[in-house]
Amino acid sequence: MNEIVPVGTKTKKRTFLGLLLVALLFLLFTALYLLLAASDRYAAFSRSVFMGLTISALLFNLLFCLGLLAIVLTILQKRTFPLLRWSIEKTLLLLYPFVLQMGRFMHITQEKIQRSFIEVNNQLVKARPMQIKANELLVLLPHCLQNDRCTYKITRNVTNCRRCGNCQLPEILSLASGRGFRVEVVTGGTLARRAVEEYRPQAVVAVACERDLSSGVLDSFPLPVLGVLNERPQGPCFNTRVDLAALRESIDFFLGKQ
Ligand code: SF4
Repeated sequence: MNEIVPVGTKTKKRTFLGLLLVALLFLLFTALYLLLAASDRYAAFSRSVFMGLTISALLFNLLFCLGLLAIVLTILQKRTFPLLRWSIEKTLLLLYPFVLQMGRFMHITQEKIQRSFIEVNNQLVKARPMQIKANELLVLLPHCLQNDRCTYKITRNVTNCRRCGNCQLPEILSLASGRGFRVEVVTGGTLARRAVEEYRPQAVVAVACERDLSSGVLDSFPLPVLGVLNERPQGPCFNTRVDLAALRESIDFFLGKQ
């Protein structure tokens, strides 16, 4: 069951990074096991198959070691290493399911891992110096931010909002009209992907829960996405809220303080 996230919950990057290391060690030991299995007890055919598997596993391990090293260096140095970006993306994409499995074995909740992953991703994005025009930024909001009694269809068009003040849409729309970025309210990952395909932004600021944000970030690679977790004072998917200061800070990162 989803937990109710209190305002200002701190997230630790080390949860995700630690599990990434555990997943990497697991794959390394699997590769070594395959190497042992390729000993002369087997027929020549089996040996060559095992050797092929071992070499592939070792090459992947090398890529993942480089990726993990690049992630840690980027976060510590707060600067990006363009040549290593590819290894970071592949490491996160390919090892993410292993990391969730490792967390399950170690009784760490998926939400805690996903929250930590979003924090790691945000640090990686912020290490990349970039400033874009306002019309190149897309802000994606979850439908559950809208008050549940509101009858206006804002998923088709956010300007249908009557700004009654029963949810936080008016504040976000005022910010958008002042700064000039696009806002879309989406009901899930499919609509979020469609909005990205349609508007082809240079960067995205997304508000969502842990699960939707982490899958959205992975699906969007290499598009830079800053994730802002929603707050669920009344439980998941119902009258959720967002820390407006955190949202503004993420927008300011891409647009600069104009
Ligand atoms: S502020 Fe807009 S979206 Fe929110 S409840 Fe009022 S009309 Fe609906």
